[in-house]
Amino acid sequence: MLQGWVKGLESWIWIDFILFVFMLGLFFYVFIYNPITRLHKVYLLFHFFMLLWPASQFLIYTTDRVSSQLFFFSISFSALSLQGFGWLIFIYFLTGRSYLLTRRTWLLLAVPTVVLAVLILANPYHLFVSSEFGVAVDREFGPLFWIMFGQLFVCCILSITCIIRAMLEGTTPRHRNQVSMALKGLLLFLLFGWIDLLLNVVFDARFPDIAGITSLGLTMSALYFCISIHRYRVFDIVRIAQQDIANSTPAGLMVLDAEGTVLEGNRSLQSYLSVKSGDRFDMGAYLRSLKVLPSESETFLHRYNSIVPERVVQEIRIEPADSPLSGSVRHLQMDASPILTSDKELLGRVITFQDITEIRYLVEEKHRQNEILQLRNRELVQIQEELFNANLKLEELATTDSLTGCYNRRFLMQRLEQEVVANMRYRIPYAIILFDIDRFKGINDSYGHLIGDEVLLATADAVKGMLRRSDVLARYGGEEFTIYLPHTNRVQAELLAERLKEGVESNQVATGTPGLSLSITISLGVLSVENQSPLGIKDPKAYLRELFQEADTALYEAKNNGRNCIVGRMRA
Ligand code: GH3
Ligand code: MG
Ligand code: MG
Repeated sequence: MLQGWVKGLESWIWIDFILFVFMLGLFFYVFIYNPITRLHKVYLLFHFFMLLWPASQFLIYTTDRVSSQLFFFSISFSALSLQGFGWLIFIYFLTGRSYLLTRRTWLLLAVPTVVLAVLILANPYHLFVSSEFGVAVDREFGPLFWIMFGQLFVCCILSITCIIRAMLEGTTPRHRNQVSMALKGLLLFLLFGWIDLLLNVVFDARFPDIAGITSLGLTMSALYFCISIHRYRVFDIVRIAQQDIANSTPAGLMVLDAEGTVLEGNRSLQSYLSVKSGDRFDMGAYLRSLKVLPSESETFLHRYNSIVPERVVQEIRIEPADSPLSGSVRHLQMDASPILTSDKELLGRVITFQDITEIRYLVEEKHRQNEILQLRNRELVQIQEELFNANLKLEELATTDSLTGCYNRRFLMQRLEQEVVANMRYRIPYAIILFDIDRFKGINDSYGHLIGDEVLLATADAVKGMLRRSDVLARYGGEEFTIYLPHTNRVQAELLAERLKEGVESNQVATGTPGLSLSITISLGVLSVENQSPLGIKDPKAYLRELFQEADTALYEAKNNGRNCIVGRMRA
């Protein structure tokens, strides 16, 4: 039966059927060969609406029943109306403006479209189309046809506005490419749609019916989309993102096959070397062109061409004359990573070029600043040491007597101020010896001041040699000395005084004149402090003055006793 009516069909009506089959093929192609994203789904919906047109146009001519013909006729136009809506949605997605499609906008666009499509399909009171002898012979379009036409027109205007705005705002070339593809597809369809409208509707009476014009327009724009999708992989979001990233990085990126043929390079690559896809890239020649030091380039090439491929990273210094980037020394970092199969077989390489002049400059500047800082630090440490030594010297100068090297009177007094207080609190016995060189004026007068100084020094040394480490010898003034003896009672102090008197007397001082040496004597006043009352000392300075007065009285007494003798006193 089917064969019967197919045979009866005129050959030209097959155009719509063939185009339907072709578009169905494209539909399956897109569905099978592309990873499905939301954009694909929208495209497939839109493509499906496109399919309905040639299918129903074909079906019209498979029947002689006018009502059936009108029904298929309505289906085709109902699908066309839905297609205007499909176009708009597809373009919203294609231009990356799907976010504008809020629930309200969806309803605002979808409800009238669906209502119109249903009305066209139902064709109430022949408001859409009417025919008495068959749509091919006579057909009368009602107001619904023109409403549908107006709806398509609005969808077209909205689509074109969306495309133009996206083109003006287009951020990446790929994005612009995608949008311009949508525009071309739309224009292609509109061109055929208009021709069909003019020939088969407006000037229907003047021209014979020409089937398949709109179908052809639809097929061509569908074909155009499929070719674009295939060639530019417009819907491959991951690849688009990868390419955008590769093109927006300032580093040069190049992919080579195993033979060194350039497969792909990003946009920045041109500022590092001038190659295009298909060229052979010779690493050795490239390094020579940059005048890399032979030693550096040899190690690099050795590793680059190694039988076991490995990742090679090299920094290259480009002298001013050779720099394609600027007039100063530039630093380039080259990273060659092999692409290997699972059997470690070389498939190709990814080579990146990065201008690291700024980084290098910053690193070097940091090193320079570090060195300056280290130098400053060393200088500071040295100054600190010098200051420490100077302080030591100052302290020594402030506390010692320059001629004899003993402590000076200032130091002794300061020390004693603390000691006497502590000694009294803990009832520690101590003694103070005040001694004076006998008839020293005579030595000065007889041998001169220099010899006098020698005598002073020799006497101080002799006394120092007989003291304990804890005893304090200080020059009290002129040829008068004081010894502070901590933890010493009267017996011990007077015993020591005796030893000192004898020691000094037996100490021969050279005069400078060969064979002539001097022997001097000293007079000593010894003040011992024992069994102190635990009342404490209110004014240590005044207390010390009292002590020294007593010691001085003892010394005076010793002088009066004929010199070279000891007078001891006791204070409790
Ligand atoms: P006495 O036995 O009574 O102590 O007699 P003296 O001559 O030792 O006593 P006097 O106080 O009369 O003389 C002390 C002298 O010591 C006076 C001063 O010129 C001298 N003299 C003081 N300091 C120094 C010094 O640093 N170097 C030298 N060479 N002589 C000094
Ligand atoms: Mg004297
Ligand atoms: Mg004196």
